[in-house]
Amino acid sequence: KSDINALTDEYLRLSYHGLRAKDKSFTADFKIELDENVEPVEIVPGDIGRVLLNLINNGFYAADEKKKELEKAGQTDFMPTVWVKTQKIQNGVKITVRDNGNGIPDEIKSKIFQPFFTTKPTGKGTGLGLSMSYDIITNGHGGDLKVKSKPGEFTEFEIIIPQTTKS
Ligand code: ADP
Ligand code: MG
Repeated sequence: KSDINALTDEYLRLSYHGLRAKDKSFTADFKIELDENVEPVEIVPGDIGRVLLNLINNGFYAADEKKKELEKAGQTDFMPTVWVKTQKIQNGVKITVRDNGNGIPDEIKSKIFQPFFTTKPTGKGTGLGLSMSYDIITNGHGGDLKVKSKPGEFTEFEIIIPQTTKS
């Protein structure tokens, strides 16, 4: 069984430092809130790590895009931020990844989990992250991956991982 809190913390830092390493001018903030009542769960840690990395990278990317957009319009005080939270739920754990980017327009919301769907320029995205993440969470772990977004304001992904009866 794995410690979801430790894994979440590790991948948030991995994402942040990875993006900073690639681009020294990358500036962002992150907040993490770990529920100490979360119990160890039966998972494939590398797979859940990939899901976290993809969702968190997507969040930083979206928030950074908004920052660049606002800067063009002369607003320089926007801080791109990603919030990551774990919560013990009825029969498992919920992990939430939220960003203050521009959100997902309603007309593309139904497409984001399709393989190869991307709105990013060539070289910046493969469009495989969310479809792979959905597969890992649902087929791989019997859980669910949901998205909420307010265009112009935020995007929030919710990962539900059930506690299995296996020990
Ligand atoms: P990629 O990151 O390679 O584009 P993903 O499968 O990870 O592929 O995401 C698919 C698309 O979903 C993105 O190109 C973007 O349009 C949208 N998307 C995903 N996460 C976010 C987010 N946090 N904010 C806004 N749009 C998002
Ligand atoms: Mg992605």
